[in-house]
Formats: sequence, structure tokens, C-alpha cells
Amino acid sequence: MINASQTPIQIRSTLKLSLVACTFLLIQACSQTTDNNFTETSDFSTSNHLMDRSFTPQWSNSDIGKDMLAVRRASENSLLSYDIVKSLTVEVGPRIPGSKGDKAAVAWAEDKLQSLGFDKVYKQPVRVRNWERGFADARVLAPFEQNLVITALGGSIATPEEGLQAKVLMFDSLNDLQLASNGEVEGNIVFLNTKMQRDRAGKFYGQVVPNRVNGAVEAAKLGAKAVIIRSVGTDNSRFAHTGIMRYNDEVKKIPAGAISTADADILEAMFETLQGSDQEIVLSLNMQAKDAGWQTSYNVIGEFTGSERPEEVVLISAHLDSWDEGTGALDDGAGVGIVTAAAKLVKETLGQPKRTIRVVLYAAEEIGLVGAYQYTRANKDDLPNIIMAAESDFGAGQIYQLDTRFNSAVRNNAEDLYAALAEMGITLGSNDARGGPDVSMLPAQGVPVISLRQDGTYYFDYHHTANDTLDKIKIEDIQQNQSVWAMVTAYMANTNFDPRPAEPLE
Ligand SMILES: [Zn+2]
Repeated sequence: MINASQTPIQIRSTLKLSLVACTFLLIQACSQTTDNNFTETSDFSTSNHLMDRSFTPQWSNSDIGKDMLAVRRASENSLLSYDIVKSLTVEVGPRIPGSKGDKAAVAWAEDKLQSLGFDKVYKQPVRVRNWERGFADARVLAPFEQNLVITALGGSIATPEEGLQAKVLMFDSLNDLQLASNGEVEGNIVFLNTKMQRDRAGKFYGQVVPNRVNGAVEAAKLGAKAVIIRSVGTDNSRFAHTGIMRYNDEVKKIPAGAISTADADILEAMFETLQGSDQEIVLSLNMQAKDAGWQTSYNVIGEFTGSERPEEVVLISAHLDSWDEGTGALDDGAGVGIVTAAAKLVKETLGQPKRTIRVVLYAAEEIGLVGAYQYTRANKDDLPNIIMAAESDFGAGQIYQLDTRFNSAVRNNAEDLYAALAEMGITLGSNDARGGPDVSMLPAQGVPVISLRQDGTYYFDYHHTANDTLDKIKIEDIQQNQSVWAMVTAYMANTNFDPRPAEPLE
């Protein structure tokens, strides 16, 4: 209903919403009538975009609205995604790239995809540098003795065997550190104390994570002995958050660790207490991480081969590796469960997909998207065949928005998909999606991607900590993800909607 008090803009958006809802309701209503009627309605609702890119031969099935609904209903009765992440976290657990756990995860993934009846299951070797965490200990020696909860950052070198001791200097940000002088920093331990806020989209991660990645290089440039950071996390707890850090060949390597947010608060309070006095805070640090050399890991890939266009690929993905302290349930066991279950549900509910559905479980995401770059190199000639790629790698929070990077000339043609998602409360967002870390390099090659935006309000409470365990996954949340991924996969695999090439990156 349009009411007299609405402005033209409100009226327009009301009309648009009504149209979307109507398309969906038509499909829903028709799924309860005869097949004949359904076909007519379905042709009506999809004819516009079928004309845009005409293929020969025509697809044999255009009842996509009904199919997406069937997949959604099947998903609502399935716990497959949860069962998969449970299996991975219980039977394999931590799986740092190149480790024993990682090798077990590769074998687990091959078995899992095979037992789910994928037509093809294969793996692609990826050379990775293995790193072992080892023991880590930090304590304030003076003026107030306190033990701090610390974990080494991924890739960090060790301290000398007996540890090291030095005065601590606190900086609010990496930028503040860069403004400091050599004389000030030399021989000391740098403490980077930047706080991170919670946000549904996790937008503050990108602002704080440079502390972790570049802190050691920036501190070493000024002669620091070691760097510790406030964990890149949004919890108030004594769980420290690990994650990859980088060295630079031109700059001396120094040890790097993260203390928990609670311990960062303790240290900060100590600085406040000492304000105006000339007493120094002296820290003892001992971390025995080590580089364990080159190992071979694998991208594990499972496919349901397309019945009509086997060469055209819908690529859905997650990463198989995890950090080593928790069991990698949210990061990224959830993604592994979601995309694997989505593919299986589409096959089980609708039969053989028309395009090939390819599930890629990438190796070594955590240490720099190593498996994803290997995939991109090894499959260079096949990239133009990818109709759409996407990764689930943000935990198990509910999906609230679909972002795309489609050819903008045809983006609006996927109206049946958008309508089906709108029915689940998912809005259509921007057309500048990156698609997730492991597919983020693909749009530059013209490959369309989507991002199914998840509620990540609490994701960074657990991310890369010992507290990333199965109990953090809510069954109804992962099931909602599974439904959405299955519907999107069904749509992309079983219609001739073709958003290639991706809109160029700005
Ligand atoms: Zn991840």
C-alpha cells in the first residue's frame, strides 16, 4: 500500500520491495500448483535475464525459484555443515600449515568429500614453510611483578634460549612508534597497545592488524630487542590472539608476541600508575618458536560435475588450515562445513548440477593465502571458466547481506536469487565485493565473486585464540549459512545467469 504521507523516494522503495516480494510469492504459490502452471510463471519471472546472454542449447530447467526453495527446505532439515565442522575439530583439531595436524586435515578432507559422494576428489600440492609455536613466557620483573599471558606471533623467531630482559616502551599505535627516535627505542621492548572495537562487519580488524603484521619490522628499524602487541581482538579475556607476522630482509629479525587484552590493560595500568615517576617497567620475555622447514600441504578439491556445462565452474571455498591453539572451529572449520554441505545439499535435492560445483578447501591461508596463490597459478587457463567464486571465512554468524562483483550490465538479472534471499532477510549490497581472502585475487583476472556478509560482532573475540572451539558455533546460525550458500550455489549452477567478466577493481 502506498500511503499519502510517503515521499516519492519512500514510494519508489516500497514499490521495489513489493516487486521483489511478489516475484517470490508467485514462485512460492506456484510451487503448490501444477507443473504446467509453474513453468508459465517461471518463464515470466526469468525471461528478462534469459534474453541478456543467450546460450544454445537452452537450459532444460528454469524452475529456479522452486529449486532454491526446495534446497532451503532440505537445508532446514539438515545438520550437515555442523556435523562436518564437528568432525574436523574433534577428529583433527589444530592444523597449522605443514604440521602433523595439517596433514591429518588433508587426509580427513579427502575422506569426507569422498564419503559425501563427490564425483571427483583430488588434491593440489602446495609448498609451505612450517612454523612451530613452542613455549612462550612473559613476566614483568619490576617495579611490580606480574605474569602476562602471551603467545608468539606466527613466523616469529625465538628469543635467546635464556630469554631476554629489557625496559618496555608503550605506543598507542604503529604510527606513534614510527614517529619515535632510535635513541628512544634502541635496546628496549616495544609494546603496541592499539584497542580494537567490535563491529558487525569486523571493519576495525584492518585498522589494527598492521601492528601484528608489521610491528616487528617497524620496532626493529629503531633498534628494539622485541615487540609485543595488544592482541588483535575484541574480547576482554586472558586469551592471547596469534596470527601471521612478517619480517623484511633488510631489517634485523626480532621476536614478536601478542599479550591478551586483559594483560595489555594490566600493563597500561602500570604505565598510568608510574606516570610522573622515573621508574621503568622491565619485562622478561622467553619464546621458543621455531621454523620447521619446508613441507608439502594440499588444496583439497571436490566436484559435482556439471551435466550440461561441465566446463563452467561455480567455485565455493573455505580454508582447511587453522592456527594451532584452538581447534579452528570458527576459523575456518565453519566455512569448510558450510560450503561442503551446500554443495552436497544441492546435489542431493536437485540432482546433478548443470554447471560444475567445485568445492576448494585451500591450504595455508593463515600464513599468506599460499594455497590460493598456488591454485590461481596452477589453474591459470581455467580461470575464465569460473562463473563465480566465493569463500566462507568469517565464522558462523548469520548472513545479512549479499555483496557481488559481477559485470554490472547483468547484475540486476539475478532477480530470482535476490528475491529468494530477501525472503530470508538478506539484502543486496554493493557490487565491489572481494569474495573472501582466498578468492580475493580472482576479480583481477575477471572472475566474478560474491561475499555473503556474516554477523561478525563476536568473531574477533575468539579469532586465532585457544578459545576458537566448536562450542562457539550456534547450530541455527551455521544452518542459516548452509541454507544461503546452498541457495546461491543452486542458482549459479542451475541457471544460465553469467556475470562474467567481473567489474574491474577500482
Ligand atoms: Zn580464516
